[in-house]
Amino acid sequence: MTRLPSSAVTDPVKARYAQYAQKSHAWIENYQAKGGKVYCGAGCFRCCDMPIRVSLAEALIVAQALSERERHKVADHAHKVQANARSAPDDESYVQRHRREISFCPLLDRQTGSCTQYEARPTRCRDTFSAFPAEFCAEGTWEAMSRREREQYRRDVARTAGTDGELHFIAPLEHLSEPIWAAASKAMRAGWRLEAWGDFWTLTTLAADQKFMTHIAAGDGKKAWQRAKVLGLAHPMTLEIEEF
Ligand code: SF4
Ligand code: SF4
Repeated sequence: MTRLPSSAVTDPVKARYAQYAQKSHAWIENYQAKGGKVYCGAGCFRCCDMPIRVSLAEALIVAQALSERERHKVADHAHKVQANARSAPDDESYVQRHRREISFCPLLDRQTGSCTQYEARPTRCRDTFSAFPAEFCAEGTWEAMSRREREQYRRDVARTAGTDGELHFIAPLEHLSEPIWAAASKAMRAGWRLEAWGDFWTLTTLAADQKFMTHIAAGDGKKAWQRAKVLGLAHPMTLEIEEF
């Protein structure tokens, strides 16, 4: 069993997850009472093929919840993410190829459409809510739209309360998660004297690696990066480590 560091870094993030659940629930009730619609619900998963950025603190919470079999599946996914990061010509291609070719998160149960790590899932999986039906979240929908359909989409988004006016996701529910990011940042600095951010599956795999986490716990970002390199998981698009 891989040794994982103390809960000093993960507990503050978990506490903010709980606060977010309460605040977002209250916000949604108020939004719906005023006629707003939230299309997310159990079994809806079309957004689970998006790249996800996390802190190492969030990734550690997930790594601690995984079985060995799940860790292997996440590690396989992380290596596909690395291959994409190494070969994608730009950020847009990186995202498109992630959705089309790497596809769904290995923690998704495709039979039921549910997240197998719902309690441990990272912030981005908690604060993504849609004011439009799931087909608008699906990979390829935007690309398949005609010019007229795209104009209609833009008009519909612009007149939908809760969006940022450009995309159909609910912006205030994303803003409500900012205290989670802040808590993760603070806890990593206090516990490890560094911050590490990056791709969800890459960081989750690294969080389960004893040598990587020993360097992190010692505040040695350079050795942690070297360890990630040995594991084939060091790329600037998917791993950022900054010492303080
Ligand atoms: S963001 Fe879209 S795909 Fe994801 S749960 Fe909500 S409606 Fe479904
Ligand atoms: S962790 Fe869960 S909610 Fe997040 S992308 Fe994976 S399956 Fe979806």
